[in-house]
Amino acid sequence: MYSSKYLELLIEELEKLPSIGTKSAQRLALHLLRAPREDVLRLADSIRAIRERVGFCSRCGNFTEQDPCLLCTDPNRDGRVICVVEQPGDVLALERAAAFRGRYHVLGGALAPLEGTHPDNLRIRELLERLRPSADGEPSEVQEVILATNPNVAGEATSLYLHRLMAPLGVKITRIARGVPMGSDLEYSDQVTLARALEGRREVE
Ligand SMILES: [Zn+2]
Repeated sequence: MYSSKYLELLIEELEKLPSIGTKSAQRLALHLLRAPREDVLRLADSIRAIRERVGFCSRCGNFTEQDPCLLCTDPNRDGRVICVVEQPGDVLALERAAAFRGRYHVLGGALAPLEGTHPDNLRIRELLERLRPSADGEPSEVQEVILATNPNVAGEATSLYLHRLMAPLGVKITRIARGVPMGSDLEYSDQVTLARALEGRREVE
C-alpha cells in the first residue's frame, strides 16, 4: 500500500512504459515528488504536448507538428533518394548519424503475418504513390529507393516484398549493407555503423 493514491496511480502509469519495472517506476515517482515544481510541470506539459500537437506527416509517415513535415519540405534535402525505414525511431537514428540527406518513408512496421502485420497495415500504398507520376503527369523525381528495414526476419521479408512491388517501376532499388548486425534494430545501432551501412548499400538484383 502507498500512503498516497496519486503516487500509486503515477507508479502504475510509469510501469506501463517500455523497460520500466516496478522498482524503476517507484524510484522515478519518488524523484518527481522531490524534484523542483517547475521541472515536474515542464515534464508534464511536454508529455501533454506530444499527444496534442504532434501527428504524422501524410507524405513520409514520420512524426511532425506540420504537414508535410520539415524533412519532406527542406529544400536542401535530395528528393531523388528515398530511404524506407520501419519506424520514426529509425529516422531519428539516421538523422543523428547525419549520413543521409535525402527524404524518408516510414512504413510503420515490418511484415509479420503471424503477428497480424500484413502489407495493408504498412504505408506501402503511400510509398508507391511517391514513385508514380503526379496527377498532372509530372514524372516522380525519385530515382533511388534505399531499403533500410531492420536486418532481421521481418525486415528482410519486408525488403523483399517491396523490391518485388517496385521493380517494375524502373526505379533503382538498394539495400543497406550488413554493417548493422543481423537480427538487430536500426534504431539502436551506433552512428558509425549506420553511416557505413548506408554508404555500403548495394543495388538489389
Ligand atoms: Zn514528412
